[in-house]
Amino acid sequence: MTVEVLRLGHRPIRDKRITTHIGLVARAFGADKMLLPERDENIEKSVCSLVENWGGDFSIDIVGDWKSYIRGFKGTVVHLTMYGMPVDEAIGDVTGDVLVVVGSEKVPRFVFDNADYNISIGNQPHSEVSALAIFLDRFFDGAGLKRDFGGKLKIEPSTSSKIVKSE
Ligand code: SAM
Repeated sequence: MTVEVLRLGHRPIRDKRITTHIGLVARAFGADKMLLPERDENIEKSVCSLVENWGGDFSIDIVGDWKSYIRGFKGTVVHLTMYGMPVDEAIGDVTGDVLVVVGSEKVPRFVFDNADYNISIGNQPHSEVSALAIFLDRFFDGAGLKRDFGGKLKIEPSTSSKIVKSE
């Protein structure tokens, strides 16, 4: 089973940090890759250097024609939107390989019509980063956070200090 996250509407200057954070959250919460419609070397560099140090197989792919990618996806397409069905009602139906679509500003109607599930994380507007984190946490039932990434750097949890071990 694989989980891919398609980030739509990325504006290279304005959304640099948010799109990077989508990549970081996707990886940390258990997804396998982030897909972008167009190349953005800054984002690829920051996410790849994090993977280099902290481990795992997370990658970024460029899909180009994202509509064809959604249409051709062999698995379940989930669109996270404040207008969708409550996550706790829908999550049990989401199985197999999953493509999670998150937007930025206005998401084209095409996405609502071509997703298998339009899912909301509450019906208030918030952020694609928080929506993705909560969706993945529910989908993996908390297990995404407990994975061992096998990285060069590892944190030893502590009540009072920063302990980072490097291999
Ligand atoms: N009108 C948008 C919508 O359809 O959810 C809100 C725009 S919001 C700035 C950008 C992205 O955050 C959305 O495309 C969606 O992926 C995500 N998002 C924001 N609030 C959400 C919520 N309550 N539930 C699920 N996703 C949400």
